[in-house]
Amino acid sequence: MREIDYDEMIARLRDEFEVGAYPGKNPEDDEIPTRSPFKVLISTVLSQRTKDINTHRASEALFSEYETPKELAEAPLEEIKDLIEPSGFYNVKAERVKRIARRIHEEFDDQVPEDLRSLLDFKGVGRKTANCVLVYGFGEPAIPVDTHVHRISNRMGIADTEDPEETEKILEEEIPKRFWIEINKLMVEFGKNICQPRKPKCERCPLTDMCWYYEEVYVDEDR
Ligand code: SF4
Repeated sequence: MREIDYDEMIARLRDEFEVGAYPGKNPEDDEIPTRSPFKVLISTVLSQRTKDINTHRASEALFSEYETPKELAEAPLEEIKDLIEPSGFYNVKAERVKRIARRIHEEFDDQVPEDLRSLLDFKGVGRKTANCVLVYGFGEPAIPVDTHVHRISNRMGIADTEDPEETEKILEEEIPKRFWIEINKLMVEFGKNICQPRKPKCERCPLTDMCWYYEEVYVDEDR
């Protein structure tokens, strides 16, 4: 495992990506809106396998008509499908969000539960989505590991893992808890702009001196 100065790493990422990403956020907006845990949960489900702008459009359309768990639980399924169509996979996603809303309304008194185990019990909610709700909905320290966080952690040498769940465990061990809340938004933005999936832009990266890939692969390729 690589020794990394996380104070320094986070400071450099903060310098470049002050705002960061956020499920359902308008990619063209510089502001991160305050959102209820319910909206974060639904937006994160809608964000699965689609682009940010599509998640944003679908979320805005849905919440303009149905804002609360009760309203969404009682909404006609076909109408939900129409509203969230921009997010893709809208048949499955419409059923998911309606079912989640119904359980929150009926079993949790319209309040999204604030613990990981209860969140994971909702169909269609995995660890990434549940951790997003904790971080972006409740302001609780957690590390949502999506494809960007997983890839960057492995490229840098922080983790040497096959799947995001293992990466989450390593990151929780390695990264001081005071940084957990912002790791996802910083790494996601970093992954979209610099440490991109196919070809990382190492020449523009502020973290080269901390990165395994840069030392072992990029520099050699460049020779
Ligand atoms: Fe990613 Fe390259 Fe930066 Fe390493 S040096 S974190 S591979 S962009």
